[in-house]
Amino acid sequence: MEELLHYTWKYKLYPPYGLVTEKGQQLEIIDPGLHNSDAGPDFFNAKIKIDGILWVGNVEIHNSTSDWYKHHHDKEHSYDSVILHVVSRIDGKTFSSEGREIPQLQLDCPKQIIDNFHELINSSKYPSCFKIIPFLDKMMIHSWLNSLYVERLNQKSKAISERVIRKDNNWEEALFVTIARNFGFGLNGDAFELWANRIPLKVIQKQNDSLQQIEALFFGQAGLLEEEQGDRYYTELRREYNFLRAKYSLTPIDAAKWRFLRLRPNNFPYIRLSQLAVLYHNVQSMLSRIIDADDTKKIYSIFSCGASEYWNNHFSFGKETTSVPKSISKSSISLIIINSIVPILYSYGKHRGDDTLCERAITLLESTKPEYNYITRIWEECGIKAENAADSQAIIQLKKEYCDKKKCLYCRIGYFYLKTHH
Ligand code: SF4
Repeated sequence: MEELLHYTWKYKLYPPYGLVTEKGQQLEIIDPGLHNSDAGPDFFNAKIKIDGILWVGNVEIHNSTSDWYKHHHDKEHSYDSVILHVVSRIDGKTFSSEGREIPQLQLDCPKQIIDNFHELINSSKYPSCFKIIPFLDKMMIHSWLNSLYVERLNQKSKAISERVIRKDNNWEEALFVTIARNFGFGLNGDAFELWANRIPLKVIQKQNDSLQQIEALFFGQAGLLEEEQGDRYYTELRREYNFLRAKYSLTPIDAAKWRFLRLRPNNFPYIRLSQLAVLYHNVQSMLSRIIDADDTKKIYSIFSCGASEYWNNHFSFGKETTSVPKSISKSSISLIIINSIVPILYSYGKHRGDDTLCERAITLLESTKPEYNYITRIWEECGIKAENAADSQAIIQLKKEYCDKKKCLYCRIGYFYLKTHH
């Protein structure tokens, strides 16, 4: 398998002495080169000695010599700098486009690596490397988790940049859609995004000195003020919305987009929409508010708001309940910080070339409580406990991008698993 041969070459798992080319020349590998995942040869800038003569150039790896011709490297000038063709099976000679014969090395991936790899890939347990975890160096795990959360942050930041482009480079609008999507807490995420995209931010900014008008705008655009009947508060909101709807030529989304099934009442769209209205009430720039909040406590305090008074004793229009303020819970705020605020700050910092902002995003993540879900629970049972949100994000990244995709060859834990006798 070519991937395993790459691995053997990259991590120098070949015998340290006694290598010979297909023609019996002594081969010494001084440096296997830099792995290239783009077009062109597999490893750049390798250094080898053939019969004592130093060669510097690129290395190409294949299962068989004939793959060189199947991939038409014999016609590509970019492969003329190849100094060694590494293959599992030699079934011919290798020639460059200039007609130069390229030395070949027949190499096998060590049996132990192949066996361990199959064990990892075929295991039905998660994580399949569980038995090695207690013996791993804590520093190595820590540094792997650091790389993973930065990787996740970059992925999220890319998604934010794409949203900013869709919003004609308006960061404030992109932030509104991002936060709104987050207020859907999974089940209603798509509906919230659709809804937020129908609300011009400038309309919120114009009406934002009146909480009732923002609520009218939010509930109306959510398609939740379409019916004619309702209690007094509902009727007032409907009247205000009809005025705003005509003034700004607004079109609401279909109310059927909202999902209520399997939701705790505190998560009902009514409550979340009202909390968003309170959040945006009297705020001209949410982005500046977030940037100005220079520590985690201040970020928490921005989002520590409740719904408007009406919702103290309602979960939906017209049905009174006992009075309980509908404030946003700390764990919900942590999720907003993890999924919206940190990625926005990080991606805005990158956009502005402001490293301090990127560092602030990372510090914010590191000082936010971790998510606690089945993934973090399993890793805790294996001995890796998420101490903060950066750790839990790293663990989620590891599962989604490596374990689930069986990419153990690219995982640092996988490296130790493959090399170890079990
Ligand atoms: S990707 Fe890494 S952590 Fe996940 S199962 Fe493979 S070796 Fe283990």
